[in-house]
Amino acid sequence: MRITDVLRGKGTNVVTVRPDSPVTELLDLLAHHGVGALVVSSDGVTVEGIVSERDVVRRLQRDGADMLGNPVSEIMTVEVHTAEPHADLEDLMRLMTERRFRHVPVLVDGSLAGIVSIGDVVKKRIDELQDERDQLTAYITG
Ligand code: AMP
Repeated sequence: MRITDVLRGKGTNVVTVRPDSPVTELLDLLAHHGVGALVVSSDGVTVEGIVSERDVVRRLQRDGADMLGNPVSEIMTVEVHTAEPHADLEDLMRLMTERRFRHVPVLVDGSLAGIVSIGDVVKKRIDELQDERDQLTAYITG
C-alpha cells in the first residue's frame, strides 16, 4: 500500500497558512477545516514549515495568551519530514510513530501535492484488514 492509495480516497487538497499570519488566523483555519495541522507556505506550493495544534498549546502554556498575535513563523517547525506519493504506507506509519508527529506533507518535484495524517493511515489499514477478512470468510464459507 502506497501514499497514492490514500490520496486517491481523500484528494490532494492541502490547507496552508502564510508564515506572517497571526496565530489567531491559524486557529480559525484549524477550526474551520477540522484539521490538526497546516502546512506553512507563502505561495501554497512551497513548504516553509508545518504547524500543529500541539505547537500552539505548548507556546500558550509557556508564553501565555500574548503569543496569539505573533506570526505563525515563530511557532512552526522548520525541519519538515515530507514524503513522495510512491512511498510505502507502512514506512510512513513507522516514521510517524517513531518521530511522534501525526502529519506528513506529500511533495512532487518539490511542490505540495497532498498531506497524510495518522488518521488517514489508520483508516486505510482498517479498510485493508476488513477486505482481507471478507475474502477469507468468503473463501471458507463459499
Ligand atoms: P502533530 O503530531 O502533527 O500534531 O505534530 C507534533 C509536532 O511535530 C509539532 O511540533 C509539529 O510542528 C511537528 N510536526 C508535525 N508534522 C511534522 C512533519 N511532517 N515533519 C516535522 N515536524 C512535524
